[in-house]
Amino acid sequence: MPGDTGADIIDGKAFAGALRARVADGVSRLRADHGLTPGLAVVLVGEDPASQVYVRNKGRQTREAGMASFEHRLAADTPETEVLALVRRLNADPAVNGILVQLPLPDQIRAPAVIDTIDPAKDADGFHVTNAGLLAIGQPAMVPCTPLGCLMLLKDRLGSLSGARALVLGRSNIVGKPMAQLLLAESATVTIAHSRTRDLADECRRADILVAAVGRARMVEGSWVKPGATVIDVGINRVDGADGKSRLVGDVDFDAAARVAGAITPVPGGVGPMTIACLLLNTLVATCRQHGLDPKEYAPV
Ligand code: NDP
Repeated sequence: MPGDTGADIIDGKAFAGALRARVADGVSRLRADHGLTPGLAVVLVGEDPASQVYVRNKGRQTREAGMASFEHRLAADTPETEVLALVRRLNADPAVNGILVQLPLPDQIRAPAVIDTIDPAKDADGFHVTNAGLLAIGQPAMVPCTPLGCLMLLKDRLGSLSGARALVLGRSNIVGKPMAQLLLAESATVTIAHSRTRDLADECRRADILVAAVGRARMVEGSWVKPGATVIDVGINRVDGADGKSRLVGDVDFDAAARVAGAITPVPGGVGPMTIACLLLNTLVATCRQHGLDPKEYAPV
C-alpha cells in the first residue's frame, strides 16, 4: 500500500487477517482429515489490564480460527507452585496442543521457572530454552510469535532476504535475539544493536532492513534510516498526545522515517496484529507435529 509520505506502508492488519484465514482453513482440513481440533491454553495470573485485553483477544481469535480455547485465570497472589502444577496438567492434557503463560507475571512467580516447565512441543510462544536452541541450530522449532510475524512481513515485501544487511535494534529473548536468528537463517547479514552499541545511528544507516524492538517512543530518527530501507517497528509505547489523550507510537519516528524508507510498518496496525496470528499458526503447527503430520500440509509455513 503506497503511503502519502513516500514509503509504502506495510499493512500488518490486513496481512494478519489473511494469515488467520489460512490458519482457519488448515484447522478445518485437519479436522476433516484426522478429526483433530487444535487447542490453545492461555494462563493469566493477576489483573494487569493490558494482559487482560491480550488474553481476551487471543481467546476470541483462537475460537474464530476454529480452535479450542482454554482460559485459566488465576488470582494475583497465586503461589508459583500452583502455576507450575497447572502447567504440568496442561502438558498432560491431550486436548491442549499449545500453552501460553501471559507475561509479565506477579513478583512471587519466576517466569523462567514457568517457561521451563512448559512442554517444548506445546510451547506456543517459543520461549522455552529447547526451542531457542533449536532455532539457533536451524532445526524445526516453535518460533516466538512477534519475530515470526516480522519475518513474514519482510519476506512478503522483499522476497529473498539473502545478503541483505539487517540491523536488529534490541536483544531481548522474546524479540531481538530470535529475530536475529530468523534473519540469519534467511542468509541476511545480521547486526544486533543494544543499549551499549556505539554509533547507533551509523549502524542503523547501513541497514537495508531495520527492525526496532527497544521500547522507547520514536527513538529511531528519520536521519538514521537508509534511503529505501525496509523498517519494521516492533515497539508499542503509550504517549500523551497534544490533545491530552494517550496514544500508541512505535520505536521509530514514523513520519520522519516514512519520508526516507522504502517501506515501513505503522504502529498500531503493523507488527502487533501479526503476533496473535502467529500464535494461532504456532498452535496449528504444534498440533500437526504432535500427531506426526507434516505442518506444511495444513499450515502456511
Ligand atoms: P526489552 O525491554 O526486553 O528489550 C529492549 C532492548 O532494547 C534491550 O536489548 C535494550 O538493550 C535495548 N535498548 C533499550 N534502550 C536502548 C537505547 N537507548 N539504545 C539502544 N538499545 C536500547 O523489550 P522487548 O524486546 O520485550 O520489547 C521491545 C518493544 O517491543 C517494546 O516496546 C514492547 O512493547 C514491544 N513488543 C511488541 C510486541 C508486539 O506484539 N508488537 C511483542 C513484544 C514486544 P540492553 O539489552 O543493552 O538493555
